[in-house]
Amino acid sequence: MNKIIKFKINEIEPEKDIVFKENGYSSVKNIPEKIQNLYEESLNIFRGNSNPVGIYSEISKDEFAKIFFGEGNNSDEAPIRQIYPKADNIALFAITLGKKVNEKIRELFRKNDFALGHILDCIASLAADNAVRNLEEFTIRLHSVSVFAALRSSPATAGYAQTRHSDKSTGQAEKNEEHQEDLLTLAYSPGYCGWHISGQKKLFEYLHPEKIQITLNNSFLMNPLKSVSGVLITGKREIHKFKNSFSFCYLCKTKSCLERM
Ligand code: SF4
Repeated sequence: MNKIIKFKINEIEPEKDIVFKENGYSSVKNIPEKIQNLYEESLNIFRGNSNPVGIYSEISKDEFAKIFFGEGNNSDEAPIRQIYPKADNIALFAITLGKKVNEKIRELFRKNDFALGHILDCIASLAADNAVRNLEEFTIRLHSVSVFAALRSSPATAGYAQTRHSDKSTGQAEKNEEHQEDLLTLAYSPGYCGWHISGQKKLFEYLHPEKIQITLNNSFLMNPLKSVSGVLITGKREIHKFKNSFSFCYLCKTKSCLERM
């Protein structure tokens, strides 16, 4: 079943030093006053014009396989191919900051206010990434609660919560707890790491992000632009580890897999 999730602006607003780091400053100290003022102005526009919302739906591995293999355009090396079969839980998602902030960015560029437009664009992109991190945390909490509830109701682990520290004979309970502590949810998106952008077609057919006003154009790009879609894969930390030496990695500028693994 689809869930609609509203984000608070302050939950996803990027930190000031991250915004400046993205723009080549190593520290927020000694930044000219003019630039500081542009940042404050951009932040106010961002706060007043963003409406961050997401849609989320858990999905079985078989259903995800149909979406992932999509139009048959993925790279054979795509790491998700190896990751999703080992997952504990899989969910599709899409998030957006809404139309207004995108229109503001476009308007600033149209008026040749490139500096303000650029900082606003940067804040919005980082906020969209933060919304995805927020969803990763939401998913792991949701998964932990449901596993813990299942453990409590299972005859094999009845009384688990009360006895886990004292009853060493229930080794399974300790193993389950260790498993929980070792879980990690990471998001993967069509258009990255060998998952072809055309994967958006089947993802949209299943998830219906149009319910939160995200649409797809013929090139599989989302409108509004500050939107992210993909899959949240929850499993043991080690399932997300891979060597980033795939044939498509040479085109990758961010190498973002390294900080996530
Ligand atoms: S280097 Fe880039 S393309 Fe390669 S796996 Fe990492 S994030 Fe994906």
